[in-house]
Amino acid sequence: MNNSDWLARSQAAVWHPCTQMRHHATGDLPLVPIARGAGAWLYDFDGRRYLDGISSWWTNLFGHANPRINAALKDQLERLEHVMLAGFTHAPVVELSERLSALTGGALGHAFYASDGASATEIALKMSFHYWQNAGRCQKQEFLCLAGSYHGETVGALAVTDVALFKEAYAPLVRAATVVPCPDARQAEAGETPADVARRAAAALEAHLEAHGDNIAALIVEPLVQGATGMAMYDPEYLKLARALCDRFEVHLICDEIAVGCGRTGTFFAHEQAGIRPDFLCLSKGISGGYLPLSVVLTTDTVYGAFYDDAVTRGFLHSHSYTGNPLACRAALATLDIFREDDVIAANRRRAERLGAALAPLAGHPQVRHMRQRGMILAFDVDTPDPAFSRRFYRAALAREALVRPIGSTVYLMPPYILDEAEIAHLGRAAAGALEEALA
Ligand SMILES: *Cc1c(COP(=O)(O)O)cnc(C)c1O
Repeated sequence: MNNSDWLARSQAAVWHPCTQMRHHATGDLPLVPIARGAGAWLYDFDGRRYLDGISSWWTNLFGHANPRINAALKDQLERLEHVMLAGFTHAPVVELSERLSALTGGALGHAFYASDGASATEIALKMSFHYWQNAGRCQKQEFLCLAGSYHGETVGALAVTDVALFKEAYAPLVRAATVVPCPDARQAEAGETPADVARRAAAALEAHLEAHGDNIAALIVEPLVQGATGMAMYDPEYLKLARALCDRFEVHLICDEIAVGCGRTGTFFAHEQAGIRPDFLCLSKGISGGYLPLSVVLTTDTVYGAFYDDAVTRGFLHSHSYTGNPLACRAALATLDIFREDDVIAANRRRAERLGAALAPLAGHPQVRHMRQRGMILAFDVDTPDPAFSRRFYRAALAREALVRPIGSTVYLMPPYILDEAEIAHLGRAAAGALEEALA
């Protein structure tokens, strides 16, 4: 079987995510059949290779077919593949919960599991809402999200997602949250620092809370980097101020670190850079090393305590069939082991510097705007009127052995934490070449 056999069969039988399927038929957006992966590289059936510059949608931290994660999973397969988590427990889920709690300094000591990011968002929203019901604050039923936020695409998660492309068609289905200004540093006016922009956005949040705080259950944010809207980056000052405002107006702070957690922004959790803790922390994507669907919502003793009772209906009765799947938890434990054994956060500091240096020459390109970086996320905007820019760039990058999939006219790199110098240079060359070709 070669590429073309798989392409035809996939296009006939598989409905691919986030895709206008006709773009595959026309070749506008090529479909790439992958035979195997090794390290940061993906290989197709015709022997071509692609450097995974976006960690397979921000999931893969330590490369494909990582020997250490593979070994852990093989061991787990021989012991226990799955058991329901209601009424049962097992070693991987207990150990993972303990270790995640420790990573929050014990502040978030209770872990609730699901499989995908959007489910984690919904769990956090439901828990916050139900907490206020249990606490006798029944009027607290509303949610706040930031302009340009993305928290997943199920109907409940769309309520707090502010990306028109994903939301508009389903607007009548959604009980939309209130959108407050985001602190995107690109909004800085002359003489303003990113911290000034953050203070401006926090002032708008304060005004909203002063008027409506009694009706608001929670504010949900993507700490430091709003991913799916196009890698909008902002100053940690906003998180500090938002935390203080949430405390003052008795509103929960939900940190959605599905994309920015697990070392992506330079600290293990992004919120650490603001010196705060949220009331709810959502993790997914990288937590299993990019191996298996796993998400988790961590929360505080206070929240947990409000559900702890004799009455069944005061409990949190949410569930998914694969909640706390042992294989997924084991992959997560192996991932956390790699963080510790390889001192990944420190090693990434140097890797992020090299990545920034490799892309720095592009900042001078006449059509490049807002070159920006936070840890292992690097992004720039391209000044182009071409609505098909992202697909042209994507094709041009594939032709240069790189997987880089822009969001609209924002090009970003979010590679796994294993790239060596030669691979970083390869990514830099591919991005520069693809930019020239896409703009030609
Ligand atoms: C990807 C993502 C989600 C949704 O996760 P899925 O697993 O795709 O449902 C939610 N929030 C953020 C910040 C994300 O990046």
